[in-house]
Amino acid sequence: MNKLETRLKTLITENGPIDIGTFMNLAIGHYYSTRDPFGARGDFTTAPEISQMFGEMIGVCFADAWLKMGSPAPITLVEAGPGRGTLMADILRAMKSVPGFHDAVQIHLIEMSPVLKERQKETLKDYLVSWHETLDSVPQQGPLFFVANEFLDALPMRQFQFAQNAWHERVVGVDGEQFFVGLIPTNHHLPAGNDNVVFETAPLRDQFVADLADRILQADGVALFIDYGHDQSGFGDTLQAVKDHKFTDALRDVGEADLTSHVDFGAVKRAAGDNVVVLGPMGQGDFLKNMGIEIRAAKLGQQAEMERLTSSKQMGDLFRVIALCHDENLELAGFPK
Ligand code: SAH
Repeated sequence: MNKLETRLKTLITENGPIDIGTFMNLAIGHYYSTRDPFGARGDFTTAPEISQMFGEMIGVCFADAWLKMGSPAPITLVEAGPGRGTLMADILRAMKSVPGFHDAVQIHLIEMSPVLKERQKETLKDYLVSWHETLDSVPQQGPLFFVANEFLDALPMRQFQFAQNAWHERVVGVDGEQFFVGLIPTNHHLPAGNDNVVFETAPLRDQFVADLADRILQADGVALFIDYGHDQSGFGDTLQAVKDHKFTDALRDVGEADLTSHVDFGAVKRAAGDNVVVLGPMGQGDFLKNMGIEIRAAKLGQQAEMERLTSSKQMGDLFRVIALCHDENLELAGFPK
């Protein structure tokens, strides 16, 4: 057993089984705090690491919205879970040609991993950047421009399972050296299901989205979330562990694999509430094409990279884009009118 597994074993032995959210939280916290997981030699590759075009298209979307809003200054530009800082660097480079934008922008990153924070510092050394562990400490000056790619999937979720006519919570127990998933009774109210069906809720994701929606209502602005997931209903077991670009058992080598779940965009939409404008979710492929990625790919000679980001057989459909904004007349670029 590794150090984290020994700690988990003690925790479970002393206090009883832990919910999937607590398990994810500890596993992901350890995982990201101890490595840079990206790229061919890491465990997985994300859209900004595939091509600069991804960040450029988001930069153009933000620039268009900023101009339509009358070029306000200052503005607060925030990224949550910035990985190596590549997406933010690409956004800022794409914005360089927009007069006044770089002077207006105050850059804030939300990152829990000390290792990745160092990477981000290096990538973004030409800019003035502040770091935060949560959204709460990010000051709000002027309208908000927010982006997060593959961030929500890393926030913990809880799982419930219908068995013998009642909902139970799926929890992690330990037997000797082996972790296992068991069921304990719960009085959580959930939609009725068939036997053994699994239902996922992600209270921390919902809270994050609700907090952002509040900021947009107060300060105006735009938030973009990109992630893998589905458009509605929390049914299905989507917990997944990835190591060396392959799926592995979430209950083995805990803290050594990336542990995530699919984002329920129906829940994201509900969490945003009725007072902000919600656009999407839509496929990443359609969004990027609407933003003009085909022209950019031809110019850069990045046909293969574009295919990977947009094809429905690859990342184009499974990855969804959802936007929150303060004004339905903003006609955010990339989304259907
Ligand atoms: N957006 C990047 C990285 C995605 S990986 C990209 O597309 O390449 C997830 C990122 O979220 C990592 O930077 C990780 O350290 C960070 N992260 C995960 N959980 C977090 C949390 N609870 N609070 C802050 N950052 C978190």
